[in-house]
Amino acid sequence: MRQIIAGNWKMNGTLADVGPYGSALKASIPACLVVICPPFPLLPAFAAQLTGTGIALGAQDCHTGRAGAHTGDVSSLLIKEIGAQYVILGHSERRTDHFESNAIVRAKVEAALQAALVPIVCVGETDTERDAGEAEDVVRTQLIHSLPPEFTGLVAYEPIWAIGTGRTPTEADIIAMHGAIRHQLTSQFPQTGAKIPILYGGSVKPANAAAILALPEVGGALVGGASLKATEFLAIAACAASV
Ligand code: PEP
Repeated sequence: MRQIIAGNWKMNGTLADVGPYGSALKASIPACLVVICPPFPLLPAFAAQLTGTGIALGAQDCHTGRAGAHTGDVSSLLIKEIGAQYVILGHSERRTDHFESNAIVRAKVEAALQAALVPIVCVGETDTERDAGEAEDVVRTQLIHSLPPEFTGLVAYEPIWAIGTGRTPTEADIIAMHGAIRHQLTSQFPQTGAKIPILYGGSVKPANAAAILALPEVGGALVGGASLKATEFLAIAACAASV
């Protein structure tokens, strides 16, 4: 299975970073599937850099609608037109900072699919929910209500307490959660659920990537902080399976 390593730059990076970063990626194109998700204004520069390299481009959000009076928002159609193939949806930072409910995430997934973008839908529990033994229920509920019946794309399991903290779940916890997600996906999507890639995200670094990526049902990684430096991101990508 060819694993997918997606880099989420969040609100980081400038135009000046695109050239050096793109050159570093092109100098050692990883054998796994790599997706870079920079802030919206950097998408055109990245698209120009990466055309023809096999490295894919993604946005970090899209609006639910096609066009209209939505100040500050960006449509899935425009993201597609600018050269991206993927879009991260339902990241915990958007669920928290922008009050995105599962219903909103689902509407965004539908908009992404209408634009022929591949959604990367994030799910994950807080530390309070994990401590209360509710992690799997929380994630199951997110999957049920965030994914429309016509869903195709990727799911990213990102425990909120592991994002940007340097803390990661135990291998046993990742195995258990990815197994629970697979179980839910196969019951929710009997035809396709067995094949939907499940990425792990939350403090993935070069030092822990190989161990995490080797776990069952881990189809790749969604990488935040460590995607900002091309050397670190490439070191993580080098740990991924390429066939
Ligand atoms: C993320 O926010 O998607 C993420 C995984 O961040 P980090 O790798 O920095 O924990």
